[in-house]
Amino acid sequence: MADKLEFQAEVSKLLDIVVNSLYSEKQIFLRELISNASDACDKLKYLALTTPDIAKASGAFKITVTPDSKANTLTVSDNGIGMNREDLINHLGTIAKSGTAEFVRNVKDNGSAVDLIGQFGVGFYAAFMVADKVEIITRKAGEDKAWKWVSNGVDGFEITEAERAVNGTDIKLFLKEDAKNYTDTIYLRHIIRTYSDHIDYPIVLELGEAGEETVNTASALWMRHKSEITEDQYKEFYHHISKNFDDPWLTLHFKAEGNIEYTGLLYIPSEPPYDLFQPDRKTGLKLYVNKVFISDKVEELIPNYLRFVRGVIDSADLPLNISREMLQHSALIEKIKHGTVSRLLKELKKRAGNYDDYMKFWRSFGIVFKEGIYEDFSNREEIAGLSYFASTADDEKLTTLDAYISRAQEGQKAIYYITGDDVRVLRNNPQLEAFKEKGIEVLLLTDPIDEFWPQTLPNYKGFAVKHVAQAQADMSFERKEAKADEGSLKKLTDMMSAQFKDEVGKVTTTEKLTKSPASLTVENGQMSIHLERLMRTHQQQTAFASTRILELNPYHPLIIKLADMTANEADKPKIEEISRMLLDQAKIAEGEAVSDPSFFSEKLSEYILKAM
Ligand code: ADP
Ligand code: MG
Repeated sequence: MADKLEFQAEVSKLLDIVVNSLYSEKQIFLRELISNASDACDKLKYLALTTPDIAKASGAFKITVTPDSKANTLTVSDNGIGMNREDLINHLGTIAKSGTAEFVRNVKDNGSAVDLIGQFGVGFYAAFMVADKVEIITRKAGEDKAWKWVSNGVDGFEITEAERAVNGTDIKLFLKEDAKNYTDTIYLRHIIRTYSDHIDYPIVLELGEAGEETVNTASALWMRHKSEITEDQYKEFYHHISKNFDDPWLTLHFKAEGNIEYTGLLYIPSEPPYDLFQPDRKTGLKLYVNKVFISDKVEELIPNYLRFVRGVIDSADLPLNISREMLQHSALIEKIKHGTVSRLLKELKKRAGNYDDYMKFWRSFGIVFKEGIYEDFSNREEIAGLSYFASTADDEKLTTLDAYISRAQEGQKAIYYITGDDVRVLRNNPQLEAFKEKGIEVLLLTDPIDEFWPQTLPNYKGFAVKHVAQAQADMSFERKEAKADEGSLKKLTDMMSAQFKDEVGKVTTTEKLTKSPASLTVENGQMSIHLERLMRTHQQQTAFASTRILELNPYHPLIIKLADMTANEADKPKIEEISRMLLDQAKIAEGEAVSDPSFFSEKLSEYILKAM
């Protein structure tokens, strides 16, 4: 009795894209099938660590590719873990990988799938680029029953019971008319060598009467010597291990020797993965013990701020039968992590010398990497030194903290920064006026993380790291302009304090402003206005509100005049109206909403009219 089942809607969409796209590199389907076969062998190898008998019957692991030019079929077989009925339904009828689901969504949004197939790798479903029917015979290790799965990639799939002598999977493709070349052994050998040479298991090509031939090198790529590995092989291995299809920005292959020995083959992608900010994302490193795959879930292997790194760590010094739970608290893992991080940082330092090259990395991952400044206490100076920021010194180029220091003014003791939503808006923030006047550079920080790292980096190379709101005392300089009368100014700030007692904590004067009459800031040490806004949008909480300070510029003609007006009791309503306008202006400059937009625009029109 055959069970007819439907594909999940997303699979149907994906298949539709795969079948109808004119993607020219159709040969990648073989890479996908071999990659799955290799994963299946890895899984069984791991299972055999604890259940040694389970893989006995099927013999040494291998992957077999069998073309049949008469029948026009191509079969990829493995003696790996195999699949039972549930596995077939769950893995080959639905999309478990959110990456693939993301792919489908992307295509729906952007129209063309052609380029994207190569970038994402659509896995098993790529078989339907070259086949109009796929038949799978599979038997799961440790189970008696075998199953047959058949589909034309359009109307769902059928599952029936079948026979298979041992565990493993045969995937038979009934090739389309225009895909007959995939029975040509010379072509097949070429494709396998190009895309799958790094696979750790022998890939055996059946040559019919001429016997069979192992086509690949069949040794784990990371265990080979650097000099024996080509750039393309490194790249293909990255595609295999990361399931990403961009090119790596960095490839780092090393052997650590000392009291613990391990090999690392690590990559930094060039494109950010879709799940960079998803809490349930997978770790990017696979842990092997002497070429046996152990786990890709050892989070302790790499710190969070390097979560975009992909690759393999292999150490023969870890016990083979170590449980995944034990790994989480292993001192050896901690040592490996330490060593790996310092190698990566060293490598980044080398690449940081080339600004344009480094920016490719920075624009993809800088926002995550900066988390290291507060996450990794022992490396925070180094991480901060490898970080780039927008600054008032340059409209386009980002700067490092060291470059900032090299431009510091005589006697300047701090690195100043301001935070906000948008660099362009920040450049014009009134809080920067005195800095501009004195020619002091200010970093313009716009990532949420920028609210946090400066608190764990109070100093960098002898310079205090300071928000401009804390720079009041540093900013006094000699000024020649007329200043409002002290007494009247005091009256004005008192009046305004009373008027705005529900909105601001304090009204004071400042030396920081040169062009604007007034500006908003917060009490020293309190959450910045930008952070407060972030908290509000993310948690819809206003409980954290910092105390606002309205700062007046005593040199501004408007403030001088307003202070003078306090002498006349009859002017009070006018003063209050203008004060309200000043506070609203200050709010706008900070990216905040005015308290009463219709009042504000009505008054503004009135004043504009008067000026005309
Ligand atoms: P991915 O390999 O990224 O998980 P695929 O579409 O290539 O995505 O494969 C989907 C799933 O189907 C695999 O995760 C695996 O569980 C199962 N699978 C595919 N091929 C095999 C195979 N040869 N042996 C066992 N399981 C397989
Ligand atoms: Mg796959």
